[in-house]
Amino acid sequence: MTAYPLMLDLTGRRVVVVGGGPAAVAATLSMVAAGAHVVVLSPFPSEPVAELEKDDSVTVLQRQWRSDDLADVWLVHAATGDGCIDDAVAAAAESRRIFCVRPLHATAATARTPDVVRADPVVVAVSDGAGEHPRRQRIIRDAVALALDTGELPLRRKRPGKGMVSLVGGGPGDPELLTVRARRLLAQADVVVADRLCPRAVLNELEPDVLVVDVGKSPDCHPVPQEQINRLLVAHARAGRRVVRLKGGDPYVLGRGGEELAFCRAAGVEVEVVPGVTSAFAVPAAAGIPVTHRGLSRQVTVLSGHEDADWAALARIGGTLVFLMGAATLPAIASGLLAAGMDPATPVAVVERGWLPDQRTTAAPLGRIRHLAASRLPRAPAVVVVGAVAALADEWLVSPGLPVRSASAPAVAPRSSLQEPEVLAHVSG
Ligand code: SAH
Repeated sequence: MTAYPLMLDLTGRRVVVVGGGPAAVAATLSMVAAGAHVVVLSPFPSEPVAELEKDDSVTVLQRQWRSDDLADVWLVHAATGDGCIDDAVAAAAESRRIFCVRPLHATAATARTPDVVRADPVVVAVSDGAGEHPRRQRIIRDAVALALDTGELPLRRKRPGKGMVSLVGGGPGDPELLTVRARRLLAQADVVVADRLCPRAVLNELEPDVLVVDVGKSPDCHPVPQEQINRLLVAHARAGRRVVRLKGGDPYVLGRGGEELAFCRAAGVEVEVVPGVTSAFAVPAAAGIPVTHRGLSRQVTVLSGHEDADWAALARIGGTLVFLMGAATLPAIASGLLAAGMDPATPVAVVERGWLPDQRTTAAPLGRIRHLAASRLPRAPAVVVVGAVAALADEWLVSPGLPVRSASAPAVAPRSSLQEPEVLAHVSG
């Protein structure tokens, strides 16, 4: 059988579905989506079929079908699941020269619906033609959908259209931690405005004519001021380009995403936010630290280590403290918390370059962290975790550790090895 692929314009056209079960519902919904007027015939319509009638373009007739129901219709679906009835519907359609789809018996039908992926404005329809290999048809459809979702297919439009800005959270640096949506938007972008801490490996995969603007800030060097970044986003979008503002972590976690959103909105530019995996949670996880853990911590406070904090409040608040931008200010963080009365045995872990090949963890009780940091010199980007969960860091348990004289053990010793008095400061990397 050699099938002839065809797309039908059903807008405003009358079509019939015979049947009252799930196959009838699916057929009705897809033809309604295509703009058809659908008459559903079933003596015993299921509840979902009855629901369909809320749609103006659906009429449900609660009775047996008759051959004259096929007068003046463009297409028929025989979907009762009863072979005899579906055969009779198909025969009546045949004699009227109307194509008949049989969702439950595709090989016997005169028309078959493909599996579909939409890549606006293109529709990809996958069909095996004769209806004999539905599984293979589905697998190929899913493979195309995945390639579209992950941005593997170069889908950039070649003519300028409406510009817009997507503020995309890129996660902590490993491209595998990008969301599917981030991937897709990157594949469609004309311009990518990239931060220093975004997953930079993906920038090399972009098509050669994608404009990459590196506004990367390093701790002591701010090449492009925020105001200028805002203006850049708006200018490119106004020129009809699709702009991805690729940021590290999540755009709204100490990421100035709110400011960029407000600026674009005020300028009348269409803008959306795509959440990302925040380093505040993912970087501790990379080192084996869950930010909450039953019995150890049931709350997390995320804050910037850059600004002065209310140390007394933080020392009291309990749970886990996660400082971003705290590598350079680690001594000040430790002093602040100790001076405010936090237990010097409180575990602290500093995780540098989480999820990147040269990730390194420095873990020690609060009372010792300054000393240890002086020799290890943690550098940005790093996340500082303070609280009992920090003692769950892989490094705390695995590496041989630095023997220290102080006898104090971590406030909470989640695993037995922590009780050894020597296991008080451990480092890796
Ligand atoms: N919006 C980002 C945070 C931006 S502030 C987010 O949600 O993750 C920048 C800080 O994030 C850095 O100073 C560092 O503290 C942290 N950070 C980001 N990526 C990191 C990584 N791969 N490893 C360690 N810290 C990271």
